[in-house]
Amino acid sequence: MKTLEYLLSIDLNYIAIGLIAVFFTLEHILDTQFNFQRRGHHFWNSFLFMVPFLIGNLFWAVIFVFCIEWLNQNEIGLFHLIELPVWLKLILGVMILDLATYWFHRISHLVPVLWRFHRVHHSDTTMDSSTYFRGHPIEVLFWFGSAPILMSAIFGLDLFTIGVYVLVLTPFLVIEHSNLRFPSWLDKTIGLVITTPNLHKIHHDQDQHYTDSNFADIFILWDRIFGTYTYKPAEQVKLGLAEFDEDKKQRFWYLLKSPFIRIERKN
Ligand SMILES: [Zn+2]
Ligand SMILES: [Zn+2]
Repeated sequence: MKTLEYLLSIDLNYIAIGLIAVFFTLEHILDTQFNFQRRGHHFWNSFLFMVPFLIGNLFWAVIFVFCIEWLNQNEIGLFHLIELPVWLKLILGVMILDLATYWFHRISHLVPVLWRFHRVHHSDTTMDSSTYFRGHPIEVLFWFGSAPILMSAIFGLDLFTIGVYVLVLTPFLVIEHSNLRFPSWLDKTIGLVITTPNLHKIHHDQDQHYTDSNFADIFILWDRIFGTYTYKPAEQVKLGLAEFDEDKKQRFWYLLKSPFIRIERKN
């Protein structure tokens, strides 16, 4: 617990930036999974997304502390009604948050207006660890950010549990998007329970059958339980969305306004 408390005292944004620096370097040195075109240009785009992402995180940090402290003070949520050891509440809390994220993610593929924002993350045709930042600011702010507050209102989760969840989630998201070769035996072992980078790459495939699968961030178990698990070898994955397969549609400003443009799905 002490180590967790220490890690939580570090700004999570620093952890994310540090991890991306490490993986970005590794992607330069090691063999990459996908060919890279115009890497500097790609990084610049991701960097521009990082700015609203970090501002959004700051905004949510303030809202979180306010809402969750209020919910906890008023003892709202199931965990206030049952007596459980702290460690069990922590594990259950992390799993509940990941399950909620699974459903929020799945709904963002199903509901057309939400997909318009979420497709910005999927539009990346040359993904690397910096794709971690590539999300439309409105989606990051108002959709995914509200999942932990809703779960706290239902289950009575505290700030510590949410902090631990984000602490575990951050390296997962950076590694899942990194353009490195990961062996397929990983998918057949830990991939039974945990989302491996190859499994998340399948979620970024252009074919909608695969785009609408493997939604889970940490526990691929949710996809297995709810019937959205798919598999294909990493070398057969074609990243991105066919309707964004043009240079001008990969630029920050176009992507920022793209939710307000009618774009037909191609695959
Ligand atoms: Zn998605
Ligand atoms: Zn992704």
